Amino acid sequence: MARVYNFAAGPAVLPEEVLQEAADEMLDYRGAGLGVMEMSHRSKEFEKIITDAKNDLIELMGIPEDYEVLFVQGGASQQFAAVPMNLMQNRVADYIVTGQWAKKAFAEAKLFGQANKIASSEDKTFSYIPDCSDLPVSENADYVYICENNTIYGTKFHQLPNTKGKILVADQSSCFLSEPCDVTKYGLIFAGAQKNIGPAGVVVVIIRKDLIREDVLEGTPTMLKYKTQADNGSLYNTPPAYGIYMCGKVFQWLKKMGGLEVMKERNEKKAKLLYDFLDQSTMFKGTVEPGSRSLMNVPFVTESDELNAKFIEEAKQNGLVQLKGHRTVGGMRASIYNAMPYEGVVKLVEFMTKFEAENK
Ligand SMILES: *Cc1c(COP(=O)(O)O)cnc(C)c1O
Repeated sequence: MARVYNFAAGPAVLPEEVLQEAADEMLDYRGAGLGVMEMSHRSKEFEKIITDAKNDLIELMGIPEDYEVLFVQGGASQQFAAVPMNLMQNRVADYIVTGQWAKKAFAEAKLFGQANKIASSEDKTFSYIPDCSDLPVSENADYVYICENNTIYGTKFHQLPNTKGKILVADQSSCFLSEPCDVTKYGLIFAGAQKNIGPAGVVVVIIRKDLIREDVLEGTPTMLKYKTQADNGSLYNTPPAYGIYMCGKVFQWLKKMGGLEVMKERNEKKAKLLYDFLDQSTMFKGTVEPGSRSLMNVPFVTESDELNAKFIEEAKQNGLVQLKGHRTVGGMRASIYNAMPYEGVVKLVEFMTKFEAENK
């Protein structure tokens, strides 16, 4: 078996141990005589799978009791609508637009009320996080919205915005569980699984319980009400059961690795190796302002599209795959999520060094 180093932004690399365990349980889940994909979501076995997944996540993140954890479907993009539908009591919300995903969330919110763009980094192609210490937060804003880690542009909020007392909503899809997180600073966090947790099809929502309301915007579909999901323990309808099972395995793997403090150290070590290389290279250049760099997604370029293409192709031949940048920005991007081993980044930097020497 020859596994490559997969630098994809999502769906992305999963821990090999987790995949192996899932393979071992594929035909017969722990003596049940059938696999998890074939199992009733109302069975005792699955009830334990979803409860354990939830409790392990609560333990990993230290999620306080006044927050609810939900497993929902529809991708992170569905949350762009679910958030305003559930939280826009005054039909006003403030958005900080730091990339394509925030832009899409902002556009979606406009379908439901008055969405204000209170800060943006579009003037420099989203290569930095704006100063959010004193923004013109709207008097009657229902929440302030951020995309905490910008998967496409490779920026991350290293300091949360000053929301002036308003609820903070964060799309954490591409930085979820990459480091410790103080959940009490947020009203709502959501994360699509396929970046840093598990297979596509699951979205984790962490919401403060007082924000789970019956009186959501008129016309909100039953499935999109957080209350429906919360009242039914994420089992109102058939959940993405296999995905939840895989997420649960990743949570257990993270616990075994030592938790989020340890993941942060590992991720910082990996990212430093790559950023240090980029900072001294005369061929490869990081595209993000140093103070805004992401630990998870590292975009970089050479001087020409031709050289970029040659690099991507040769890297692939060397077992380093999915290094092409997002279709909207070009260049390269290495996504180095939790499950990317240090060794993978070492191999990447070795290859970049060699490529630079050969193509001077
Ligand atoms: C990938 C991504 C999304 C979109 O996720 P889908 O599950 O495809 O809807 C949204 N936000 C961020 C930050 C992402 O990285």
